[in-house]
Amino acid sequence: MDQPRAGVHYPASTGDFHAWFSTDADCLDYLEWLRWPDGFVCPACAHTGGWRLGDGRFKCIECGSRTSVTAGTIFDRTRTPLTVWFAACWHFTSGKDGISALSLKRTLEIGSYQTAWAMLHRFRSVLVRPGRDRLAGKVEVDEMYIGGHDPDLPGGRARGKKVLTGIAVEVREPKGFGRCRMVPLADLSATTLHTFVRDHIEPGSVVITDGWAGYSGLSKLGYVHDSRSQRAARARGEDTGSLLAGVHRIASLTKRWLLGTHQGSVADEHLPSYLNEFVFRFNRRTSRSRGMLFYRVLELAVSHDPVRYQDLIARRRPRRIPPAPPRKRGRPPSLQRSPANRPWRATGGNQSG
Ligand SMILES: [Zn+2]
Repeated sequence: MDQPRAGVHYPASTGDFHAWFSTDADCLDYLEWLRWPDGFVCPACAHTGGWRLGDGRFKCIECGSRTSVTAGTIFDRTRTPLTVWFAACWHFTSGKDGISALSLKRTLEIGSYQTAWAMLHRFRSVLVRPGRDRLAGKVEVDEMYIGGHDPDLPGGRARGKKVLTGIAVEVREPKGFGRCRMVPLADLSATTLHTFVRDHIEPGSVVITDGWAGYSGLSKLGYVHDSRSQRAARARGEDTGSLLAGVHRIASLTKRWLLGTHQGSVADEHLPSYLNEFVFRFNRRTSRSRGMLFYRVLELAVSHDPVRYQDLIARRRPRRIPPAPPRKRGRPPSLQRSPANRPWRATGGNQSG
């Protein structure tokens, strides 16, 4: 497909959103179009072509196996209506800074905080596309401690450990940034830092770091290593803070976002998924339409394996939040639905039956 277009392939506005997805069947149609844009492909044998059964599932004409659009995706066996999933995705993607689980629970009047929390985490878990391109050009690299802030403690003192995080960002001339990456690091050793650089930056790129010994040897790995010594900068009378201005900017934007949208209530073990979300947003900050992000997240969601709740909670259950009085829904009135707005119906192709 050519570049997806607003109002055709994804909702251009909240009005569009409500008009397009008022029932679970609408959502299922959309997911079907996203998962099988050229028609049904059997997940068992990869054969193309199948019958749609009376219960909405598909039957492969080759091997006979039956499957549903949501089977094998993050929506597998969900008890939450797809309309709620879609609304959650819309809130997750339409706001510039996303939404917290507590706000989502209130906005959508979801019964439990855990349900809202788990939906957002399932979306976060699909954001890193396998085989995504590495950064290239001029790339600043540094490592920093992020997280550990706890607003419940007096003076916002840190509780628990902050997470050592590798940050890489493309810097543009004369100013501005390209894409970024943020990944937790085990330590500051050369092995760890070299792996971080190799995993996330294309060989041949200019890698700008501080003078830390762990970065030496990058030129042997095929990078043009620009090591900037703080001591040398100080000796030249330069401001050392501006040596790696890009990564510092990313780190401060991340901290501000964690304190703003999420009010600092992010447990250490979940920080990596929040970093993924921040990177996803940052790298698409110039996207013309927020609806485009909605489209991308759902596209990733239907091509991602199921994510078990057990895997989401990692070691601890999400923090309990005291119940809050429900708010008014405040949704716009439903708009007239027009078939012309639903291209996946027309282009869905091979439904064979
Ligand atoms: Zn099959």
